[in-house]
Amino acid sequence: MDSAFDLTGRVAVVTGGNGGIGLGMAAGLARAGASVMLAARDARKSEAALATLRDTGAPHAAVEVDVLSRASIDRMFAATVERWGRLDILITNAGTNIRKPPEQYSLEEWTEVLDVNLRGTFACAQAAYPHLCRGGGGKIITIGSMTSIFGASFAAPYSASKGGTVQLTKALASAWAKDNIQVNSVLPGWIDTDLTKRARLEVSGLEERVKARTPQGRWGTPEDLAGVAVFLASRASDFITGTAIPVDGGYSAQA
Ligand code: NDP
Repeated sequence: MDSAFDLTGRVAVVTGGNGGIGLGMAAGLARAGASVMLAARDARKSEAALATLRDTGAPHAAVEVDVLSRASIDRMFAATVERWGRLDILITNAGTNIRKPPEQYSLEEWTEVLDVNLRGTFACAQAAYPHLCRGGGGKIITIGSMTSIFGASFAAPYSASKGGTVQLTKALASAWAKDNIQVNSVLPGWIDTDLTKRARLEVSGLEERVKARTPQGRWGTPEDLAGVAVFLASRASDFITGTAIPVDGGYSAQA
C-alpha cells in the first residue's frame, strides 16, 4: 500500500535519541521504515537504546555527539551520510534543564541551558542544511515544551530556550521553504522521562498537579510522541511548515 506516512529509504538523525522522548520518536520513525541514527553523548546508553530498535527491522546505528560542539555535530552528519548516503530528517531533541528560582541562577547555568537547547538546535539545523539540500529537501523537527507557551517559575532559562526554539523554527521554515525543507516544532506536555523524574523530585506536588491539569488525566509516555514524529517526517505533512504542535493530552487547551 502506498502510504503518505511511509519512511522507507529515508534517513533520520535524532539528537538525544538514546532515551526518553528522542527514543520514542526514533522508534516511530524506524517502525515507519526510516534508517535511524541515534546521536547523544553517552555511548553505553546509546548501545542499550539500539537494542530496543532491533525489532523494527529498519537500519539503525548510534553516533556520539555533543551539541555544544559544531565539530562534533559535523562529524555526526558525516557519519550518517557515510553510512546511508543521504540525510532527510533531523529531530533536534537533545535538551537539558536546571531548576531553581530565577534569582538563584548563575550566568553560567543560564548559558548552559540556552546553549544546549537553543544554540544546539540552531547549530544542528545549520549543519544539516547542506545535506538536506543535496537530497532535494527534507524535514526538521524541533522540540519545544509547554514552557514555549507558559512560563515556569522554576525554569527561567529553560522557558526562554523553548520559547526561542519556536521562533527559531518559524525563521528556519520561512528561510528554507525555497529548498523544500519543512521545519516544525513539537511541544510535548509532561512526559515521563529521566528529565522529569528529576523534576518530580525537585518540584513538590508536580506529579499530582500535572495529572489534575491535564484533561486526559495522565502523564505522557515517550511512545505518545511517535505518531507526530512520523507525521512531521513524512510527505503527509509536506504543506505544513513553521508550526508548533502540542502533544500534551490537552494540557495547553484548558484554562
Ligand atoms: P532525557 O533526559 O531523557 O533526554 C535528553 C537527551 O538529550 C538525552 O538523550 C541526552 O543524552 C541528550 N543530551 C543532553 N545534552 C546533550 C548534549 N550536550 N549533546 C548531545 N545530547 C545531549 O529527557 P527528555 O526525553 O524528557 O527530553 C528530550 C527533549 O524533550 C528535551 O529537549 C526536553 O527539553 C524536551 N521536553 C521534555 C518534556 C518532558 O516532559 N519530558 C516536556 C517538554 C519538552 P546523553 O546524556 O547521552 O547526551
